[in-house]
Amino acid sequence: MGSVVCKFGGTSVASAAQVRKVEGIIRSDARRRFLVPSAPGKRYPSDKKITDLLYTCHQLAEQGLSFAEPYQIICDRYLELARELEVSTSLESELAEIERQLKSGASRDYVASRGEYLSGRIIADYMGARFVDPADGIRLTADGHLDPASYALLAPLLQGEGLFVVPGFYGRGPDGEIRTFSRGGSDITGAVVARAVDAEVYENWTDVSGLLMADPRIVPDAQPIREVTYRELRELSYMGASVFHEEAMFPVRQANIPINIRNTNAPEEPGTLITPARDASSTPIVGVAGRTGFSMVYIEKELMNQERGFGRKVLDIIEAHGISFEHAPTGIDSMCVIFADKELDGKTDELIADLNRALKPDRIGLVHGLALIATVGEGMAFRVGTAARLFTAIANNGVNVRIIAQGSSEINIIIGVEEKDFVPAVQAIYHAFVE
Ligand code: ADP
Ligand code: ASP
Ligand code: MG
Repeated sequence: MGSVVCKFGGTSVASAAQVRKVEGIIRSDARRRFLVPSAPGKRYPSDKKITDLLYTCHQLAEQGLSFAEPYQIICDRYLELARELEVSTSLESELAEIERQLKSGASRDYVASRGEYLSGRIIADYMGARFVDPADGIRLTADGHLDPASYALLAPLLQGEGLFVVPGFYGRGPDGEIRTFSRGGSDITGAVVARAVDAEVYENWTDVSGLLMADPRIVPDAQPIREVTYRELRELSYMGASVFHEEAMFPVRQANIPINIRNTNAPEEPGTLITPARDASSTPIVGVAGRTGFSMVYIEKELMNQERGFGRKVLDIIEAHGISFEHAPTGIDSMCVIFADKELDGKTDELIADLNRALKPDRIGLVHGLALIATVGEGMAFRVGTAARLFTAIANNGVNVRIIAQGSSEINIIIGVEEKDFVPAVQAIYHAFVE
């Protein structure tokens, strides 16, 4: 019998009632033997996520301030969870140890990782499962990404019968210290576990009924989509569909393990299945996603098209400043380079000065406050009129398009708009394709 790995997100383990739903899901299919829980998330919109509280505690401790208040909230939540689930996990000593670590200068990653650690301990106890600490089986690189050596390291720890719990979000770095992935990183842990046990499917349980065709905070009635390809999910998650961490698909994609995004609060719904290929004839577009916080440098120079090596020089200078870029659409005598603002951070003036010196352009400038929006679908490249539909919808809503970049993968069209137009543009594109 094949096995299924189930990652449960923050809202799925936010309270005893939620953990009971998790239990129901696990017990309803004997193949579901590997659980990867997050730290408890929000129980209601104004609630606090444990991970955020842990970061607050660490920040206060680092500044030599009292973290007693946020730490008490954390303790109360875990103690309540354990009490309501009637588990005997010795939480008091664990919580005292974390407090001691906070006081003696523990790292930010160590402190954040305790959210998942404690959640895993309680859930393992409640489910009668074996607890496997990812500190023993998951390795991260120096810059916080997954080290593929993890698969072989983790696999022997997950052998045998019964249920296993592996908390999400953390492992060890090359120096042996606890390291976390970036935010939302429990999705990566789930994928690593799925790869290590060669799972039949990687189920990612969250609070929506699968991948929705747009962010529900922008399009409240966005429809779930039944099937998408790895490529489509990659584009959407990179561009802002935050339901699935952008790095989490690689471990499973390489092993052809399908991903199923499901809703803990509606387990009867099929969710979204992510597979290597799909029949795109009936649904050419699977979704629209975007992010704000981009800037663009534009460079104009007469006869740029005849100047050999112009593009390379631009990109060399950018690289020399240690900046990575998102897109570089070109015209005949012009070139734009688009950056995430966090990449440019404090480096803009020097970058522009260097570009000016080396390239002697006729015009060079910088535009801040841009949003990028990707419309994604495997069926797009071969479909007449997709772009027309998209741009008509945008224009009809009075949105001015600043940048157009057809992704070279031919499964997306990316547009850049002013940040103030971000929400109306996403809504317009969604409605152009869905209704
Ligand atoms: P979890 O804690 O279960 O990992 P996340 O908050 O990380 O949950 O991800 C689920 C949330 O992602 C949804 O509640 C939704 O607000 C947001 N989201 C953004 N874009 C999308 C999308 N295209 N489809 C589904 N959810 C999305
Ligand atoms: N708890 C971590 C976070 O809030 C990881 C996760 O939920 O995936 O980012
Ligand atoms: Mg998440």
